[in-house]
Amino acid sequence: MISGGTNLPRVRDYNQGVVLEIIRTGDGASRVEIAEKTGLTAQTVSNIVKRLQDEELVIEAGVAASGSGKPRVLLQINPNARYAVGVLLDRDMITLVLMGLDGRIVARNKVALNHADGLAGVIEQVVQTVEGLIRNAKIEPGRVVGVGLGCPGPMDHEKGIVYEPFDLLGWGHVPLKELLQKRLPYRIVIDNDATAAAIGERWVRGTHGAQNFAFIFMGVGIGAGLVIQNQIYRGATTNAGEFGHMTLNPEGPTCFCGNRGCIEMYCSPAKMVEAAKNRLAEGENSLLQPDNLTIGKIYESATNGDKLANDVVEKAARMLGYGVVNLANLLDLEMVVLGGKFSPAAGTLFQRTVQALVQEKLVARNVYHFRVELSAAGEAAGAVGAAAVVLHEIFAPRPMSLGLAI
Ligand SMILES: [Zn+2]
Repeated sequence: MISGGTNLPRVRDYNQGVVLEIIRTGDGASRVEIAEKTGLTAQTVSNIVKRLQDEELVIEAGVAASGSGKPRVLLQINPNARYAVGVLLDRDMITLVLMGLDGRIVARNKVALNHADGLAGVIEQVVQTVEGLIRNAKIEPGRVVGVGLGCPGPMDHEKGIVYEPFDLLGWGHVPLKELLQKRLPYRIVIDNDATAAAIGERWVRGTHGAQNFAFIFMGVGIGAGLVIQNQIYRGATTNAGEFGHMTLNPEGPTCFCGNRGCIEMYCSPAKMVEAAKNRLAEGENSLLQPDNLTIGKIYESATNGDKLANDVVEKAARMLGYGVVNLANLLDLEMVVLGGKFSPAAGTLFQRTVQALVQEKLVARNVYHFRVELSAAGEAAGAVGAAAVVLHEIFAPRPMSLGLAI
């Protein structure tokens, strides 16, 4: 039994969530298999499937032979049943995806974020781009169940309030959820970008067999979305996972958070660019040019064999690796997933370096193999995650009244 159901009528919605999750994550499940996996009676499964079909969430997708018995009708998610919009709000970019219930991305967009008109201008841009995405995708707006918005913390996830977003633009406490709710006719959910990315990874790719993992999300800063014992861990104030502010050297460079030597001071994209510029200024040989240097150019040169660029990325990856070792030692994780601003090729370099460091330094390295993986969603991980947060809130089985289980 992978996901225990219960035959008590009061938890009908929970059972519906369990059944839907099996159909969504399985490769064509039959009613009989669902009953076997959940422990629900055949009649209960049949009733739930009927309800899911009535809501157009599930469709029948052919039959499979089953030994001497009668052929099993296979069920699958109706890919066009419902959609969610995911928005990643970063300091200089809005990334959007429109995602189907089956995790497929049906539309995406990316626009530069303009701060010139302050908060009101940013809200206007989010509203316009969300409406544009839905319009251009030519789907029925009524099938959009919500808009998830991921952004860096700190925040109050429940109330949808973001505190001092984007490093001191002077906006103070921003009731982002309320402001967007006034403008958009959809359910609005605000979440930490890294937490959203972890939920997205679960939704789109499953657990990879890991019940305890962290999604290391690189945006402007670096956060960790934590899944502990198969549940999203948010902490006391919904601000768990400030991985980027873990201290690596108390005498290191001063961070904007007030501490010194934080991980972000060594491996955020801005710090990698700064490190490369410093070394170029010292006259080191490289194909990189100091003017208009971007993290994209560093990644590109690193994968093309430029020694300086490769060195900068590798040093950053090693520092990130020390953070991963601390986190994995503390929480006994099985895996980290890297996503966000890692280009595919540079992501591989990060993955290799972090994996090697973990194998060398983890206290329990002889007990088990700790995995370092790359997110399939890559740079879109935050937006995909934000869309998944909405689908997760509505459709995932939630046995607890406070509903943080995934
Ligand atoms: Zn810091």
